[in-house]
Amino acid sequence: AGWGADSQLTLTSVDFHYPDAAADTLALHDIHLQAAGMANIAIIGRSGSGKSTLMNLLAGFNQPQQGARIVLDGQPLTSFNQPQWQDSVSYIPQDPYIFSATIAANIRFYVPDASDAAVQQAARQAGLTDWLAALPAGLDTMIGEGQRGISGGQAQRIAVARVLLDHHRRILLFDEPTAHLDIETEYELKQTLLPLFQDHLVIFATHRLHWLTAMDQIIVLEHGRISEQGTLAQL
Ligand code: ATP
Ligand code: MG
Repeated sequence: AGWGADSQLTLTSVDFHYPDAAADTLALHDIHLQAAGMANIAIIGRSGSGKSTLMNLLAGFNQPQQGARIVLDGQPLTSFNQPQWQDSVSYIPQDPYIFSATIAANIRFYVPDASDAAVQQAARQAGLTDWLAALPAGLDTMIGEGQRGISGGQAQRIAVARVLLDHHRRILLFDEPTAHLDIETEYELKQTLLPLFQDHLVIFATHRLHWLTAMDQIIVLEHGRISEQGTLAQL
């Protein structure tokens, strides 16, 4: 059920315009992207270059302009909101959304009927153990809407646990999933995430260059355009 050697994703001529931006200002311009087989993709570029805009588009939150073509395993998709796409992707946004609910319920986001044991395992793998141990109610602790009462790093680890709990989605979208973590915690989490890179298509936006050795294709964004594209050795 994973992403395999024969799997393919192609984006052609993707433009995106924010409704409140000037009419001639595109946040993404002429994006072409091809993922074939087991090649994972890093998206890098300066702050404001369009990384999150592209990730939000891939996640179905930003709609591309007319003319964009999306083809998944030979099948053209009319949008990223279609079930074939939505059922295939898990998304870790730069600032993950946290619901007003328990930590466990937040981790169950994609898999509402996951067992307690599975939730505990995902929480452990995402590095939440020490924090949970310090909370009297542990996984049953209520947290607030929009990350109220928790740190940015805790929110990111909850988002990672969500993805770890869910095995059937074969495309993983990561937008700087470790940006709020200290470097030691980031390296721990990296060891947890790297095995996922083997049987998923990973599209990973980051400022942290140590991730690039795990990526097969690197896309450099500059003002919403691809300025360079290739392997780490080529760039
Ligand atoms: P960072 O590394 O800081 O996360 P980024 O590469 O993810 O930056 P984006 O967040 O994609 O950059 O922003 C790309 C451009 O789009 C920026 O010029 C930004 O100001 C603009 N932008 C982002 N979100 C919106 C929005 N909701 N409405 C209008 N413009 C936006
Ligand atoms: Mg961003």
